[in-house]
Amino acid sequence: MYDITIIGAGVSGIFAAHTLIQKDLRILMIDIGKRLEERDCPLDRGESCHCDSCAKYVGFGGLGKSEGKYNYTNDFGGDLESKVGYDFALKLMEEVDHTLCQYGGDQAVMYSTENPSLVRKAKKAGFEILSTKVRHLGTRLSESVLQRMFERLKTTMDFRFQTEVSRIHKKDDYFELIISGDSKSIFSKKVILATGRSGNEWLSDQCASLGILQNLTRVDLGIRVEMPGNQLDSILQDSFETKLQYVGEGFTATTYCMNPKGRIIRKYQDGLVMADGQNYREQVNGSSNLNFTLFVPRYFSTLQEANQYVHSIIGAINQGGDRILAQRFGDLQENRATSATTMSHNRVTPTLSADYGSLRQEVPDLYIQSVQLFFDSLEKLLEQPIDEDTLLYALDGKFYSPRIKTDTRFETEVSHLYVIGDCSGITHSLSQAAASGIHVGKSLLQEKTL
Ligand SMILES: Cc1cc2nc3c(=O)[nH]c(=O)nc-3n(C[C@H](O)[C@H](O)[C@H](O)COP(=O)(O)OP(=O)(O)OC[C@H]3O[C@@H](n4cnc5c(N)ncnc54)[C@H](O)[C@@H]3O)c2cc1C
Repeated sequence: MYDITIIGAGVSGIFAAHTLIQKDLRILMIDIGKRLEERDCPLDRGESCHCDSCAKYVGFGGLGKSEGKYNYTNDFGGDLESKVGYDFALKLMEEVDHTLCQYGGDQAVMYSTENPSLVRKAKKAGFEILSTKVRHLGTRLSESVLQRMFERLKTTMDFRFQTEVSRIHKKDDYFELIISGDSKSIFSKKVILATGRSGNEWLSDQCASLGILQNLTRVDLGIRVEMPGNQLDSILQDSFETKLQYVGEGFTATTYCMNPKGRIIRKYQDGLVMADGQNYREQVNGSSNLNFTLFVPRYFSTLQEANQYVHSIIGAINQGGDRILAQRFGDLQENRATSATTMSHNRVTPTLSADYGSLRQEVPDLYIQSVQLFFDSLEKLLEQPIDEDTLLYALDGKFYSPRIKTDTRFETEVSHLYVIGDCSGITHSLSQAAASGIHVGKSLLQEKTL
């Protein structure tokens, strides 16, 4: 019988495990994916992919294997603050950073995006500036830190990779975990679910069988903007990027993933093709443009409703292929479609090949209005007009897990069953997911039953 079983080896599960190994406990971590060193995507080698689950998303490290940009803030990246309070959430994130540095993360220098004079100026134009301290590990360092954490963890706890728990049965004071394709069950006194967004469907099934309610599901959709590289110079004097938030009537629009000198790329996720941004560091040659997405969140009562909404809009734009729609900002204002002929003398050279046309015909008004109102305020902040040759790409999307009712220790209504990280619907960033893991780990260490 294990004391604690953690299902999901992403950053939330890893930081929970790293906290728990301080005590002499029998701990098991189960992941549906592979060990970190075996995670390999055929697409990266230019081969075709026939995998059941994507190694980019699943396996030890979860999505922590990607860019590894740890933002230490309550301003964005989740709502950990609502569970543990503002100051304690920041303290937990400090502990995340301390642990990363213990395993070599200090090779990346911490920086801050705080800029008080810009905050004051932006407020007058109707914006909030969201700021953060950042430790940006990058893919390679991120993998090395995670691998070193794995080497430490495996000396004191057990791991099972490429293993799926088909059902979790709650018994009086323990859980029985039925393993797919294995006649032997696993028994554990406590279970922590840490399956991230990639485990959404699996978790919905488990919640239904355990009688756990899943609540509101958030979906962010938005237009990716590509503008002349110098358009935001006056606000990017002191920092490489900024995060602007505009609150309109009935919606909030926030810039996401701002890439000076970046390119627009196609993002393939959940059977949809979206307009994403690529940082200039990830490219051979930078561009002369700057891009970002203007995300507007919407909330749905169920995951199914959220999925239906997203597929009805982005799926229709994709037309069964990888079509992305684009329009010049000037044409959107004049209510005329952009054509390949107009584009031949556009001063902003597109970094992604897209179909030109009219956003109004295919994109809900909410996302178009948000760009127009955001640009009105941005013109006040910049004290100059937005270039009419700016390009607007439809659409980018960021998807979330439904919220699950838990107490301040992330314990669900089923006692001794915890849900942490992105699958809780509370966190949506590396730092906050990892911090939720530390928090649950510490709470469990104090329990007399262990
Ligand atoms: C492309 C991309 C890039 C990102 N970059 C950043 C960034 O730079 N900075 C940032 O703050 N945030 C970033 N995010 C968000 C961030 O990665 C997540 O918020 C964070 O990884 C969540 O951690 P987690 O542990 O909750 O889940 P995950 O990291 O998703 O880990 C979940 C784990 O559970 C496992 N799992 C799933 N289902 C099952 C199952 N049924 N059984 C067993 N195991 C299962 C998976 O294999 C995985 O290991 C990015 C997201 C994406 C999609």
